[in-house]
Amino acid sequence: MSARENTIERVQYNRTKIVATLGPASSSPEMLEEMAKAGCDVFRINFSHADYAAIENQIKHIREINRKLNIHTSILGDLQGPKLRVGEMENNGVELVDGAEFIFTTNKMIGTAQMAFMTYQQFPKDVKAGEFVLIDDGKLVLQVTSTNGKDEVKTKVMHGGILSSKKGVNLPNTKVSLPCLTEKDIKDLDFILKHEFDWIGLSFVRSGADIVELKQLIKKINPLSKSKVIAKIEKPEAILDIENIIRETDALMVARGDLGVEVPMQRVPVLQKMLVKKCLEASIPVIIATQMMESMITNISPTRAEVNDVANSVMDGADAVMLSGETSVGKHPAKVIEAMSKIITQVEEEHDIYYLDRKPFFSMTDRFLSDNICYAATQLSKQVDATAIITMTHSGYTAFRVASYRPKANVFVFTDNYSILSQLSLVWGVRGFYYDKNISTDHTISDIKFILKRDGYIVENDYIINIASIPLSEKGTTNMIKLTAVE
Ligand code: PEP
Repeated sequence: MSARENTIERVQYNRTKIVATLGPASSSPEMLEEMAKAGCDVFRINFSHADYAAIENQIKHIREINRKLNIHTSILGDLQGPKLRVGEMENNGVELVDGAEFIFTTNKMIGTAQMAFMTYQQFPKDVKAGEFVLIDDGKLVLQVTSTNGKDEVKTKVMHGGILSSKKGVNLPNTKVSLPCLTEKDIKDLDFILKHEFDWIGLSFVRSGADIVELKQLIKKINPLSKSKVIAKIEKPEAILDIENIIRETDALMVARGDLGVEVPMQRVPVLQKMLVKKCLEASIPVIIATQMMESMITNISPTRAEVNDVANSVMDGADAVMLSGETSVGKHPAKVIEAMSKIITQVEEEHDIYYLDRKPFFSMTDRFLSDNICYAATQLSKQVDATAIITMTHSGYTAFRVASYRPKANVFVFTDNYSILSQLSLVWGVRGFYYDKNISTDHTISDIKFILKRDGYIVENDYIINIASIPLSEKGTTNMIKLTAVE
């Protein structure tokens, strides 16, 4: 047994993070605290169902819990984007029968078994005969027979069922001409920026230009905003422009719900692996979303297939796994996080997900020195089986970089920048600490070592690696690496 295994109990935590969507089942301060204690790292607020007063309360509670528990859970605001929907239906739902004709109109009306309002005004102009219309996550399938190019589209019901009010519509073959940010998104964005959310998700991203547009709008609304952007990948067009999207975005979400409707669902597992790999190469966080523990919306434990899905996402190298209905409307919001957390712990203990065998990323910019130090720190941590790589950062850049090499060593980030602390809660393996003393590099390194030892993160005989910029006061490029044995 090595000296490290022989020592006292140390503080342990999962590397792979958990994102939990909030909703009626998870809005009380008591439940939010239970969820945070169970291992939730990021609370997601879905603006498709926005009620500003309720959201303001949720934010207030989350920030109080963070202060009370001395944690830094992050808040993600998810913009609806150009989501298409039908309008209200009579009796709150009607049956569409196989083989029947069904008409979509862009004129507002209460829907019947023959006709319904479609929110997408350009639909009759953009669609062509032969294209498919999928409703309610593809449960209902219709095929376009004709369009008048103005306000009506005729379809044939290929696979019928109950059509209820405001169900989502996907058009997998149609080039949708809507802008990436709707009027509602712009209003929601204003709210998100006013409340200083850490992350902003954009749904139905189609190209890198969509992310550029969102970032420009953020700058225009609040030039000082620190919020970072997540591109939700759920359209075939996004897959085609993935290189540009990854270049522009700060993080990515594999939004498997809509993605599995927009592309044949059997493509999703391969796309998930491809997207995770590309994000790791670009050092940006990636979230795997939707139906991970779906059966726990009602059940007390997940199915074996769900356990496998979460475990495989961890093995793929995702930064985070996400819960939607399970925590927003499910019966057991905290228990599902606990169950997910156990799966993650087991995989991280038993499966080798560390030190990815990939080429280092060295940008030929002013980050060249930092990039090399980050890579060297992870290589050194492997060589000496270090317990921790400790980075002192203002921008968070080195934390993202080091984490993307997936070191077995914990990544401890010390920063005086509160926004970075909570943003990093989404990032694989990173644990953030607030630290604002600025005496000298030597003093900071020994002070941080003292704090980590005092709090049980490191113990005697551990090897730790510090990376920092010298001189510390300039908060400049990371240019120093130091290996120490803990006394
Ligand atoms: C998805 O489609 O997988 C997804 C996460 O999107 P939303 O929950 O916002 O519909």
